[in-house]
Parts: sequence; structure tokens; C-alpha cells
Amino acid sequence: MIDRRRERLDALRRRLSEEGLDALLVSYGANVRYLTGFSGSSGIALVTPADVLLLTDFRYRSQAVEEVGDLARVEIDDASLLDRLFAVLPDYPSVAVIGFEAHVVTVRDGARLGDPARQWRFTPTSDLVESLRAVKAPEEVAAIREAGRVATSALAEVTPLLRVGLTECEVAALLEAALRRGGSEAHPFDTIVASGPRAALPHARTGGRAVERGEWLLLDFGAQWDGYCADVTRTFLVGAAPDRRQREVYDVVSEAQAAAIARLRPGLTGREGDALARDPIAAAGFAEEFAHSLGHGLGLEVHEAPRLSRASEQPLPAGAVVTVEPGVYLPGWGGVRIEDDILLGDEGTTVLTEFPRELVVLG
Ligand code: ZN
Ligand code: ZN
Repeated sequence: MIDRRRERLDALRRRLSEEGLDALLVSYGANVRYLTGFSGSSGIALVTPADVLLLTDFRYRSQAVEEVGDLARVEIDDASLLDRLFAVLPDYPSVAVIGFEAHVVTVRDGARLGDPARQWRFTPTSDLVESLRAVKAPEEVAAIREAGRVATSALAEVTPLLRVGLTECEVAALLEAALRRGGSEAHPFDTIVASGPRAALPHARTGGRAVERGEWLLLDFGAQWDGYCADVTRTFLVGAAPDRRQREVYDVVSEAQAAAIARLRPGLTGREGDALARDPIAAAGFAEEFAHSLGHGLGLEVHEAPRLSRASEQPLPAGAVVTVEPGVYLPGWGGVRIEDDILLGDEGTTVLTEFPRELVVLG
């Protein structure tokens, strides 16, 4: 396995020097993991031009040394990671101006960092590590692809068992068991199982409702492999062939998704990418019924940069992995969403979650 951490640290150091910073205090867990390999739930890192310092607590003493190796100096403190940071900072005399992650540091910690009595100047930064994480190395893509394989295999295992009368929780239990058997390290987010009219809620909470004949059954779920996430949605019918309205809505969503997957490419802005699916859905008369963004980046987190959103003018970088998840939601009737994970390569797009997209009737 290639160790990318030094490449990532060097790329970050170039950004720091452009920003006039001597060091970056990394507080966000996924960013700490990306740069150092440390996967514990509590830790901060200081990246200087020559060194990396990792601060964590006693629970992670052995894990930190094992995961970080000789990449970083590890310091343990059970009371306060910031206290420990201030205690060891004098060991780095060339560090005076330190960036911190303003989008994740708490107001309380921000006040401590900003204390004018300190000899260091802490200055807010935003998304320095996130912008590096948006471009995936080949082994990161491979991990997402493997997570996608676990997700779609679990779905293939479970769909023959789904039928009228199962509750949403029972469906989620079947799916989650199959995900775990397939090797998923975690459920990266709460599995969404939405039946009938509840499929009109884009972020429905899985509950005790039993699916009835002729209703939608929407499954939105994830898998995790080597820290990397996949995120998949399929919407099925249960127990009866589609009526005309169901067929119409499904076709609008699946054709919009296919159009977006075919035409997405690096260099489009997030807004332009979003429009690839939004425009055909609006042309079919469902502009108001597709109210969320088309997709989001995927990696160590299930939602990360870049965004496929009307609000984003950022260009999509080559090497990004994004979801493409158009939906049409009609209150009281139900909804359809289809979601896949896509690599935006220089040579074109690759679907990382292969699973049939045509309308399937279960049970
Ligand atoms: Zn999803
Ligand atoms: Zn998603």
C-alpha cells in the first residue's frame, strides 16, 4: 500500500506557505486521519514545515503510535489537548503564525486560541485540508469502489426477501445485517427505509410502518471500507406493477440521473453539474418537487467537498468522487430517488456502484 501521507502533508505545506502561515492546527477528525492516519475519535494535529505533532488522550496511546508510526510526534493529555499544545509549542521556535480550522473549532476553543496574551498568533482558515481531500488518489477510489461493492451486494442479497407487510425497521435490519456480513466497518449514516407516502420525505426516519401492496419502498444506505464511504439509494415498488403516475415519475428521475452521469465532467461548476439533472426534471414539470442538491462529495466522510449544488460556483476537480441523486417527491403520494457514486476522471466518468436502475417490483 502506497503511503500518501507525506505527499498530502507536502501539498498542505505549500498551501500554508501561500497563506503566510507557519503551521496549521488540524482539529477536524477526518482531516487528522487523512494527514496522519490516526483514526481515533479524539485528537488534534499540528503540521509545521518540518514536523507533525499529534495530540490525543490516553485511550488512544497505543493506537496512535501504531497508526502514525514515525510520521508524527505523539503527545498524550487526558485533561486538555489545547493545554498540551501550549505546553509543547515552545519546542517549535520557528512557528509564530498558526492557522486553525475556523469551520470546526468551537467558540470556546477559538477564544482560547485568540487570547492576545499568547505569544503565537492564531488565524482562521477554511477548508485547506478539505480541498485536498476532494481529489482522490487511486487507492482512495479503490476503497470507495469496494465500499460500493459491499453496498450493492448487500442490496442484491436482500431484495428477494422484501415483500408486502414488512416494516421499515425490519427491512433496515435485513439490509444492515447483510452490510455487516459483507464487511462494512460501519453504517456511515442512519439507514433510510421509507415506505409509501413516507418516500416523499427525502430524509425520512426509518420507523414501524409496514409497506403495503403497490407502494414505494425507498432505501438509502451506506457502507464503509478502510474508512471510505459509499452511499446508494434505490426506490422499488412492492407487490404490484406500477400505475401510470408511478411509471412517469420513476422515468423522469432515472432519465435525469442517466443524463447527469453521462455528461458530468471535471471543470463544470457545482451549479452546472446540478443543472444536468435539474433541467430535465423541471422540463417534466417537477421543478418544485426536486428541492435538494443533486449530489455531494464522498470519501472519509459521507458528505464532503465538492458539492453538486445550485449554490456552488466551484469547479469540480478531476479525481473527485460524487453522488448523483436526483429525486422527485410528492407529499402524500411518495417519492423516487436514485443515487449512485461516480468518479470524475480525466478520461470520463466511472460509476462505482453498479446495480440495476430500472424500475423493479419486489415481492
Ligand atoms: Zn444516500
Ligand atoms: Zn447521498
